Amino acid sequence: MFTPAELLEIKALLTPENKIVILTHYNPDGDAIGSTLGLKHYLRAKGIEADVLTPNDFPKFLKWMPDAKKCVIGEYKRKVASDLIREADVIFCLDFNSPSRIGILGEWLTKAKAKKILIDHHQQPENFDYVYSDTIIPATCQMIYHFIEAMGDEGLVNKDIADCLYTGIMTDTGGFRFRSTSATTHRIVAHLIENGADPSIITSNTWDTNTISRMRLLALILGRIEVVNDGKVAVMYLTRKELQEYGFQKGDTEGFVNYGLSIAGVRMSAFFMEDLYEDFIKISFRSKDDVDVNQFSRKYFQGGGHINAAGGKSNDPLMETLEIFKEKIASENL
Ligand code: 5GP
Ligand code: MN
Repeated sequence: MFTPAELLEIKALLTPENKIVILTHYNPDGDAIGSTLGLKHYLRAKGIEADVLTPNDFPKFLKWMPDAKKCVIGEYKRKVASDLIREADVIFCLDFNSPSRIGILGEWLTKAKAKKILIDHHQQPENFDYVYSDTIIPATCQMIYHFIEAMGDEGLVNKDIADCLYTGIMTDTGGFRFRSTSATTHRIVAHLIENGADPSIITSNTWDTNTISRMRLLALILGRIEVVNDGKVAVMYLTRKELQEYGFQKGDTEGFVNYGLSIAGVRMSAFFMEDLYEDFIKISFRSKDDVDVNQFSRKYFQGGGHINAAGGKSNDPLMETLEIFKEKIASENL
């Protein structure tokens, strides 16, 4: 948490007169949208309005969240986004820790005069004015709750805040399953439910909204999932042509990588997908226990993230990338 002195300074910055912007990472997920909107609704409960900015668009299954449709999406509204960042007095950076993770917004963020406040749970944070970084906490949404507590404002948690924070905790813990899910996480979730979050509605809105294209893409990748390295590593992929043929929609492949990890004996799962528009491969890694995919992705695939969940990319063709990946995991002795 921020130190008591930092909290006092932050309190002084959070006034209705100051322009406040809340940013999150490229390809926003449930935790990114949940934490930014959760913070926005908390500030609103204090009588302060803020703008939420995302670098690019996010999936439909996150658009039910209160105010989700009011987010400024940088790729569609470049001028509005750059003006907001330039004129901001305070910028909250949530669920990412390096300007390189926010696409076109990164350059504007670096130049901005605003005080920059980081709240994030990824490894190796870069420089910000105020840093609350904790890699043990499973979701940035949980950190927003701790921040609200530290501000002495637990009593302000309303249904809007609760819905948003519940969603991010639920998605980033894989439905309260991943190992960083703690008793504290569950205590917070209990408080969110007491304040209006409805688990069955949130689950249904977020997870029971599969598109037919998603189901068919899932069938395709499960049908050819490969297990290598003595059964320890699962590999999956999708080509651009397949995405086009199956009518891919944003968010369709979210969570696919987890299926690899559900195979008995598998300690690491990797999912490779050709980008729909640009010539690169987006990679997702998931792992169990002490297999560190953050380090692995940083070392070989221009990425990073958490010990057990990381992303990366490759500029080589897909089949070559798969071969390189298999060589690297063999050499790392996973
Ligand atoms: P995903 O596989 O869901 O895209 O990403 C898994 C985790 O790794 C997320 O927490 C995400 O923020 C992080 N991540 C994904 N791609 C990158 C990347 O290129 N660089 C870094 N540093 N983190 C990433
Ligand atoms: Mn997160």
